[in-house]
Amino acid sequence: MHTHTVRAYGTEAADTPLHLMDIPRRELLPRDIQLDILYCGICHSDLHIARNEWRSTTYPVVPGHEIVGVVTAVGAEVTRFQPGDRAAVGCIVDSCRTCEYCQEGLEQFCVPGNTIVFDSPDRHLGTQTYGGYAESIVVDEGYVLHMPDGLDLAAAAPLLCAGITTYSPLRHWGVGSGTQVGIAGLGGLGHLAIKIAKAMGAFVVVYTTSAAKVADIQRLGADDVVLSTDRAQMKRYSKSLHLVLDTISGDHQPDMYLRQLRVDGTLVLVGAPMEPLSVSSFNLISGRRRFAGSNIGGIAETQEMLDFCAAHQITADIELISIQQLNEAYERLLRSDVRYRFVIDMASLRA
Ligand code: NAP
Ligand code: ZN
Ligand code: ZN
Repeated sequence: MHTHTVRAYGTEAADTPLHLMDIPRRELLPRDIQLDILYCGICHSDLHIARNEWRSTTYPVVPGHEIVGVVTAVGAEVTRFQPGDRAAVGCIVDSCRTCEYCQEGLEQFCVPGNTIVFDSPDRHLGTQTYGGYAESIVVDEGYVLHMPDGLDLAAAAPLLCAGITTYSPLRHWGVGSGTQVGIAGLGGLGHLAIKIAKAMGAFVVVYTTSAAKVADIQRLGADDVVLSTDRAQMKRYSKSLHLVLDTISGDHQPDMYLRQLRVDGTLVLVGAPMEPLSVSSFNLISGRRRFAGSNIGGIAETQEMLDFCAAHQITADIELISIQQLNEAYERLLRSDVRYRFVIDMASLRA
């Protein structure tokens, strides 16, 4: 397999800051497209991976899975993209294509295992895959998304993970007008979940531990906000919500959110803290409640989400940073100090 070298930011160890490194990208196969990366969002999963918080990272690792850019080259058999197109890549860059879930467009649940854009065995190179904190990337066109016109590319980058990860469960559990939805955790995922659930027609209440974020709620479009550290406030929607989407990245108590649900309500976990979460049996039994999970979304649904966001003019509230500010951004992410997504301007890597 012929390769070329591109510049990227990654790390060789959990306790080493991310830094400039060279990584290989494959030369174009017939169905590949090459994308110059213009912007890449910073998801909390990038931090979990870089610091080996899920205890599964293979180093060196180059995080980044909210990738937008411009197509610079296409393989001989590519039909859906041309050089100059605005395009995007999210978490999934390949899968078996034949299992029952791939056939249904649920590549996130591919039975033999999909290929994630970083820290996955690369089907072609024999190394791990390297993610989007890089100058460019090569991906099979079947896993590349079209960026709709009218969306600002930098502010749209977080849709590729935070957007689809919240859109997919909101769709799956039938959120619409008449649905009362809770969003727990107001970070990258949480703030997009507000905008998407509102566009679907739901009543949206946000649960935050950050008193400083309360004032932002109206601007983000939510109907109400509950400071989750205040026991009195936590009673306001007790036993009344249809669905709570839990986007919390750190250790917490799902029981607090199960108690917000009406009978047959569902708590959907998308946040991925490392330590096991405990749940009281009574909080499930008493309201015939459900505790569920959801994992990003398939390729077709990701395109559907991008088109939905373009139609409703939904993008992330971002803080655009240079790649040199990456490690500082990780520290701020850990302190829940982001309004509400860091996006890297990749021009800073080329400079
Ligand atoms: P983020 O921007 O850092 O936001 C997480 C928010 O959770 C924080 O802003 C904070 O909100 C809240 N929080 C953090 N620690 C907390 C604690 N100990 N107790 C209570 N609240 C706490 O992270 P993100 O990028 O949105 O990602 C959120 C989680 O989803 C991460 O674990 C990530 O790995 C996971 N994720 C999962 C999927 C999937 O497919 N399931 C996809 C993407 C990401 P407040 O300040 O409002 O309290
Ligand atoms: Zn992510
Ligand atoms: Zn499959």
